[in-house]
Amino acid sequence: MPELLWLADVARNAGLTVDEVDGWKTRGRDYCSMKPKGVVCHHTAGPKTGDMPSLPLLVQGRKNLPGPLSQYGLGRSGKVYVVAAGTSNHAGAGGWKGLDSNCDVVGIEAENTGNEPWPKKQLVAYVTLVAAICDHLKIDTAMVAAHREWAPGRKPDPHSIDMDQFRQWVDDARGGGSAAPKPPRQKKPDIKFHIGRVTVAQSMNDFHPDVRRAQGLLSAYSPVSPGSVDGVAGPKFDRSVREFQTLKGLAVNGVVGEETWRALEGAD
Ligand SMILES: [Zn+2]
Repeated sequence: MPELLWLADVARNAGLTVDEVDGWKTRGRDYCSMKPKGVVCHHTAGPKTGDMPSLPLLVQGRKNLPGPLSQYGLGRSGKVYVVAAGTSNHAGAGGWKGLDSNCDVVGIEAENTGNEPWPKKQLVAYVTLVAAICDHLKIDTAMVAAHREWAPGRKPDPHSIDMDQFRQWVDDARGGGSAAPKPPRQKKPDIKFHIGRVTVAQSMNDFHPDVRRAQGLLSAYSPVSPGSVDGVAGPKFDRSVREFQTLKGLAVNGVVGEETWRALEGAD
C-alpha cells in the first residue's frame, strides 16, 4: 500500500525544511499502486493566513473527495509537508504526455489563495522540490505539469506561474540535466548588480535561477560568501562577485558576464 517512502528524504536532501505529517507513511488511496512518471503542481485556494492552513484538508479530503489530496504540501515559508506516501486524489480527470491517473503523478499542493503573489521563499522551494523529485524519478523535466495543463479549462492552478518558465527553472536547478541527453551549453545572461537588485531578462519576485546558480558557485569558489543561495542578488552577492573577479584577474565590475561565468564554472 504505502509506496513512496522516499518523499521526505528527497526533500530533505535537497536542503528543504521538512515536516513529516503524522501517519504519512501509511496514508493513501488503494484504487491503484503508485508508479510515478510525472509531477503535477497545484495551489490550494486555501485561507489567506498561516503557513499551511490547508493541511487538514489535504490529509482528510472533503465531502465527495476523500483524502489524501496530495503527496506534498508546500507552505508559504517554503516548508515541505509530507502528507501521503500512497495514491492521492489530486489530479483527477485529464492527462499529460501519456499519463492519465493519480497513480502516474506526484502531487504538490502549494498554499496560495489563488490570487496572492507567490512569496519568494515558497517559489524557490517549489522549484527545488520539483527538481529533486525529477532527479529521484529520473524523469525529464517535460513531465512536470500544472494542474491547468492536466485539466485545461477545468482547473486554473497554479495561478500566474508560467510553466515553460517554471520548467526552465527546474531544468536549471538540475544543472541543465534532465534524464534526456544534455543539450549544448546555453549562453548565460549577464547578471548585473544594481542597488541591491539584479537586472535579468526575466524575473519573478526578484528570483532568478541563474542568480542562484552563480551564488552556489560563488559559495564554493569566491573568497567572500555571497550570502544565502536563494536566487536573489544583494550587496553580499556584489562583493562576492568582485572578490572572485579580483582573485581570477578579471575585470572587476560586479557583473557576472561571459568571462566570469566561464571562470566560475571552471573554478574547480
Ligand atoms: Zn489542483
